Amino acid sequence: MMVTNYGWRRIAAAGLQYLQLCIESIKDTGLKVVYCWCTMLFPLCVWAYWQTIFTKHMNPLKEFHLSYSDKELLEREDRGESQQEILRRIAKDLPIYTRTNSGAIRFCDRCQLLKPDRCHHCSVCDKCILKMDHHCPWVNNCVGFSNYKFFMLFLAYSLLYCLFITATDLQYFIKFWTNGLPDTQAKFHILFLFFSASMFSVSLASLFTYHCWLVCKNRSTLEAVRAPVFRHGTDKNGFSLGFSKNFRQVFGDEVKYWPIPVFSSLGDGCSFPTCLVNLDPEQPSSPTGSNPANKDAAEGRQFPSKPLRESQSRLLTSTPSWTESDSATDKDKKGASNPGMTIENEA
Ligand SMILES: [Zn+2]
Ligand SMILES: [Zn+2]
Repeated sequence: MMVTNYGWRRIAAAGLQYLQLCIESIKDTGLKVVYCWCTMLFPLCVWAYWQTIFTKHMNPLKEFHLSYSDKELLEREDRGESQQEILRRIAKDLPIYTRTNSGAIRFCDRCQLLKPDRCHHCSVCDKCILKMDHHCPWVNNCVGFSNYKFFMLFLAYSLLYCLFITATDLQYFIKFWTNGLPDTQAKFHILFLFFSASMFSVSLASLFTYHCWLVCKNRSTLEAVRAPVFRHGTDKNGFSLGFSKNFRQVFGDEVKYWPIPVFSSLGDGCSFPTCLVNLDPEQPSSPTGSNPANKDAAEGRQFPSKPLRESQSRLLTSTPSWTESDSATDKDKKGASNPGMTIENEA
């Protein structure tokens, strides 16, 4: 399903013709400007939709895949507990904080990997999707870490476009019922356009509002249905870092990229900063493991000498939850049993 250059030229030409029609047919200058700006919503909507559908999902980093020897070892063991021992040993070197409901390490049999936090196997796509939100039949793709921003922008632009159509069609819709329109077949188009645009507006508004709430709370749809399980228990706010950071995790640091459907989310999708890091003594308190203070803090356990450097991001490195655990003295100063939780209150 490739759109040729010829196809793009036709779409662009149609857009320009519509723009010309708006400019010529509207007398009021202010209204003219509003119409021209609103016309831009359509290409943005198509662009975001395109990106949501065709963005390929990133694979979990190779560190999460089992090595050949580990696979052999795992196959040799038939008892669940022995297999868990092996998985626990591998997970020790990885920034994994979530567990299954029974407290076991999350492992995907199908992809033969330790599931990174927030990663789930999609039975439709038949692969593990990083920060999986849901499998969306409307885009025939999973919505996850790689395309969540595009999905949000698609909802936002479609909603604005539908509202624009509803608002501009309203006067003709009223004329339809007051017999103010010429008696042609075209007047039924006004009726159809108004009903379809207003109904889409209602459904898009509810979906968009729900996903805005999820972004603010740093939850995926799956996590909203079932709270993630950490080693100390379930916590629906386990990944929340406060409104500003939650928003930036999806939309990025640079404001100029927020409204454009290009990838600008922070992180690598495999490791997520969590304010609960200090509650999990089995895990490294930093995904890099490069700070000696972290090693001391974690009872002398040796973390990987080759850290997951590619998994670093501005958000991860600047998140106080990592630096809070850098020194035990900081914890003493605060005198809190869970200093990570004091970093930033939930918005
Ligand atoms: Zn999988
Ligand atoms: Zn899927």
